[in-house]
Amino acid sequence: MTPKSRRDDGRLKIAIQKSGRLSEKSFALLEKAGISLLKSKDQLLCRARNFPLDIFLVRDDDIPAFLVNDVCQLGILGQNTMLETKLLDPQTFGGLEQVIELGFGRCRLSIATPNDMSYDGVESLAGKTIATSYRGLLADYLARQGVAADIVTMEGAVEVAPRTHLADAICDLVSTGNTLISNGLTEQECILESQASVIQNNGMQDDLRALSEKLLARITAVLRAENSRYIMLNSPVDSLDEIKAILPGSQSPTVMPLQGRDDMVAVHAVCEEEVFWQTMEDLKARGATSILVVPIEKMLD
Ligand code: ATP
Ligand code: ZN
Repeated sequence: MTPKSRRDDGRLKIAIQKSGRLSEKSFALLEKAGISLLKSKDQLLCRARNFPLDIFLVRDDDIPAFLVNDVCQLGILGQNTMLETKLLDPQTFGGLEQVIELGFGRCRLSIATPNDMSYDGVESLAGKTIATSYRGLLADYLARQGVAADIVTMEGAVEVAPRTHLADAICDLVSTGNTLISNGLTEQECILESQASVIQNNGMQDDLRALSEKLLARITAVLRAENSRYIMLNSPVDSLDEIKAILPGSQSPTVMPLQGRDDMVAVHAVCEEEVFWQTMEDLKARGATSILVVPIEKMLD
C-alpha cells in the first residue's frame, strides 16, 4: 500500500467559487445542509466544524482542475463552465460528471447581434466574426447548425466587441438581458441554458465516497424542502376528492376528523410544488377554509 499523503486525511473536499455570482449561494447551500464553517472568504481553505469537510475557495474556472487532480472530490460550478471545459479538453476533463442541479446561477449562453445588423436566422452568421469567452460551446453549436463563422476568443467585456469592430456579433452569458440592451445588441439564439450544479470526479476513494454520498443526500433534501410547502386546511367532506386533486404535487394527504363537525375534515399535505394564490383561491371556491401554507425547513424520507 502506498503511504497516505496529506491529501488522504479522510476529509472530503469541495471547491466553490471564492467571490462572484455563485459564491454566496454556494456557502448558503452548505450551511443549509448543516455544515457550519468559519467564514473567512479571503483564504483558500475553510474547515467545517461539524462535518469532515474542507472547502476550497477558488476561481470558478479552476474548479475542474481541482477535481481532476484529486485535490477536491466535489465542486459547485455553472453548467456553462463545466461543459466548456469538457469540450475544450475532453481527455483531461471527460471524467467529470454533474450530480445535482442546484437551481441558482441561472443564465443562458446566447448569440446577440447589433440592433442594426440584419438577421434572418443562424445562417446570417455565415462568414461573420463572433466574439466569445465560450469558444468550445460556440464552435460546437455552429458545427451542429452547419454554419461557418470565425470565432474571436475574449476573456471579458465581450459585449463591446461589435462597437470596437473586433467582431460582428457576440456569444455571451445573459440573465436579464439588460447588458445586451445597453450595448445596442439583440439576443438572437440561445445556445445553452445553464444553472449551478454539483460536480464530481468519477472514481472517488471508498471512504470519501461515503462522506460524499452523505453530503449529497443532505443537499438533495435541502433542495426538496426549499421547493416544498406544507399545506393545512379544513375541507367539506363533500368536496374532499376535488380538494385533494387540486393540491399541487402532493401524494397522499392526511385527512383527520374535526371535533364536533361531521361535515368538515382537516387535510394536511406536503406539496412538492409552489402553492400559488390561484391554487388557494381554487381551494376556497370548493369550500376549503383556514388554508395555511407554511415553508418546510428539513425533509428526509
Ligand atoms: P471568477 O473570478 O471566479 O473566475 P467569473 O467572473 O468567471 O468569476 P461570475 O461572473 O461570478 O464568474 O459568474 C460565475 C457563474 O455565474 C457563471 O459562469 C454562470 O454560470 C453564472 N451566471 C449567472 N448569471 C450570470 C450572468 N448574468 N452573467 C454571467 N454569469 C452568470
Ligand atoms: Zn471565471
